[in-house]
Amino acid sequence: MERVKRRDFIKKAGLAGGAALLAGCASPQETPAPAVQTRKQYAWKMVTTWPPHYPILGEAANHIAKWTEEMSGGQLKIQVYGGGELIPPLEGFDAVSAGTAEMCHGAAYYWAGKARATQFFASVPFGMNAQQMNAWIASGGGLALWEELYAPFDLLPMPAGNTGVQMGGWFNREINAMSDFHGLKMRMPGLGGKVISKAGGAAVLSAGAEIFTNLERGVIDATEWIGPFHDFTMGFYKAAKYYYYPGWHEPGTVLELLINKSAYHSLPKNLQEIVRAAAARANAWVLSEFEAKNNAYLQTLTKDHHVALKRFPDQVLKTLRQYAVEVVDEVVASDAMSKKVFASFDAFRNKMNGWAEVSEKIYYLNLSA
Ligand code: CA
Repeated sequence: MERVKRRDFIKKAGLAGGAALLAGCASPQETPAPAVQTRKQYAWKMVTTWPPHYPILGEAANHIAKWTEEMSGGQLKIQVYGGGELIPPLEGFDAVSAGTAEMCHGAAYYWAGKARATQFFASVPFGMNAQQMNAWIASGGGLALWEELYAPFDLLPMPAGNTGVQMGGWFNREINAMSDFHGLKMRMPGLGGKVISKAGGAAVLSAGAEIFTNLERGVIDATEWIGPFHDFTMGFYKAAKYYYYPGWHEPGTVLELLINKSAYHSLPKNLQEIVRAAAARANAWVLSEFEAKNNAYLQTLTKDHHVALKRFPDQVLKTLRQYAVEVVDEVVASDAMSKKVFASFDAFRNKMNGWAEVSEKIYYLNLSA
């Protein structure tokens, strides 16, 4: 009886416990191995294209780091660096490709100089809105193409936020016809900026910190930024009379978590899935924050600051859309991967439009009736 109990005890205590019981017989050098092996710890760096702790965008990067650390029980720690803190804000693609940092939170259109097709994974003028972009990426073949585009750079992309529909921008002259764009100096990056140039304006690139001063001093005549919440914090209502909608140039800009692919594959499977879960949570959180805050700050701008809210005339939007098609055609004609990505994007959008016609479009049209 006594012997059976002792054997059971050794079995329950496991090999190390058993070894400890028998320590009296072992030589001092044979220190027993710990029952649980210490888990390997990972310390990663994340750079961002945003100013440090920038509302919603920079906060999302901070959240991804926090959620990853908490979900992994501290096994994967990520130190976040705002734009300029570790590297200049728009050098994240190269830095993560080279492994200087393991991650970058930003938006894919910043990397158009590296691969032109990146733009289709951020925003296309008159392209898809947030939920349509999510549907294309997650369920319409978009993610596989995105991964294919980034593989030669040893990078792995995943969606990690969306701004929702942006605003059309701040102007000091009314836009009643296309001729009002002639000679207009407007801050607008990316494919949208090329559309402004086609319309006879001059697309100007200004870093975020310079836009207000440039607008106030007349260095630029107009600017787009994001939407009511961020535009309010930038103070544009003090320097421009008219706030136009809709943001035809950015109908649902996708934010991106860029990861060094080799570093990702060096993680155990559970940590890989934790990174994906944190990115997916950020993808939902960012859009929710934008929707809630834009709604509140649109009221503040129009009611408290008497901003003149204006809609682009239909004819203007129609012409801008034609120019946007030409701009995209030019990109597609000059780059094989852009052609492949846009074929998928365009086919998905066309099908999506058929569904939107009978679902949300008709719903919104009757919402205020
Ligand atoms: Ca914008």
